[in-house]
Amino acid sequence: MASGDEGLLTLSIGMRVSPEPAGIELLRRYNVALNYAINKILSLNLKTIRDVHNALYRELREWFGLPSRIALDCYRDALANARAWRRNPYRGRRPKVKKLSMLLHQGSGYRVEDGYVEIIGGIRLSIIGWDRRYDGYENGEARLVYREGRMILWISKRIPRPKQYKPRDVIAIDINERKIVYGDDEINKDIDTAIDRAYKWKVLAESLQRKYSSPRYPAWRRRKAILNRIRSYHRKARNILEDWARKTPLKIVRLAVKLQHAVAREDLTGLINSLRKIRNKDHRTKLIIMGYSRLVKWIDWHAMKLGAPLAIVDPRGTSSECPQCGSKLEENGYRRLRCPRCGFEADRDVIGKLNIRKKALKILSIKPSFGGVLAPLTAPQMTDVNQNRWGEPMNRPQRGGGTLAL
Ligand SMILES: [Zn+2]
Repeated sequence: MASGDEGLLTLSIGMRVSPEPAGIELLRRYNVALNYAINKILSLNLKTIRDVHNALYRELREWFGLPSRIALDCYRDALANARAWRRNPYRGRRPKVKKLSMLLHQGSGYRVEDGYVEIIGGIRLSIIGWDRRYDGYENGEARLVYREGRMILWISKRIPRPKQYKPRDVIAIDINERKIVYGDDEINKDIDTAIDRAYKWKVLAESLQRKYSSPRYPAWRRRKAILNRIRSYHRKARNILEDWARKTPLKIVRLAVKLQHAVAREDLTGLINSLRKIRNKDHRTKLIIMGYSRLVKWIDWHAMKLGAPLAIVDPRGTSSECPQCGSKLEENGYRRLRCPRCGFEADRDVIGKLNIRKKALKILSIKPSFGGVLAPLTAPQMTDVNQNRWGEPMNRPQRGGGTLAL
């Protein structure tokens, strides 16, 4: 996943390669050098790339034996880490990079050959598999990552961005802690979030941690095995959440593309930031932060990649205002809300979706076809307008006719 600019998208294609010991060794050496460089930058309070170069280049070359090109990337990487840490108002101890990952430039850093990748220093890694759909596009810079016994070369490629279609309506996505509700004014679908599923593993990890940190338990005997198990639970939680955050938006965006609808979501930046500010966050809050931020990133990405127009709407009022007339809604039983002015009534989750759709229709200047809950909205003058004013046949019955396979 990556970002796009006008006309082009940057994709990262994962190429799985054999984790040769020489490759792992290089990544480890790079990691030690990187952490050394971060420390030195912070200790000497170096600010510019020039100062960093003067202080570190020779050491990285001679002490850590990094090839010239890698040494340059290493201190750049270190400076970026140091800067991020300095900027963070809640910074704790100095940053230490644990991830084994290294930037490689096409040509000077790596070359894809027939059946293997040659990386700097003459290290050959055989190719195990990759996504061949993008073979026709040129390789850009890449990142070699080693994690959990797997080595992957993430190669960036620039591909033409698909043309956006002209949307007929909007699939709005309402996100809350338990559920994602999406659809237009007729379609109403929901998917559970993975927060609870992930949280279960966090709880397991914690209880294990507590149990074995009791002074009465002779934990020393099996410490390593237990630590590994705790770690694997945390990893499991993260994987569940990441998997969900990638797949769910794809399903929703595919529906939008099929119907030629735009995609709309709330701007969750404010919410995520306020959650981030909580000190001593519990595991659940951390999962929510991670889940939400990944989810919105993937919504945007899939929409861009599949050519679906996207609207990001202001979240103010989406769960408390009447989607028909804008009045403040009142509680009316369990999770039901009712408008005291126009009598509109619906489930709390549905209201979020309808309001997001309403805002998105406005942003994208879409005039939806007739029918549906929101019809009176766009058409106080509807009675004296020809039904076919958009010059196209009514497309709703077709859509509602049960042909909607997901
Ligand atoms: Zn109302």
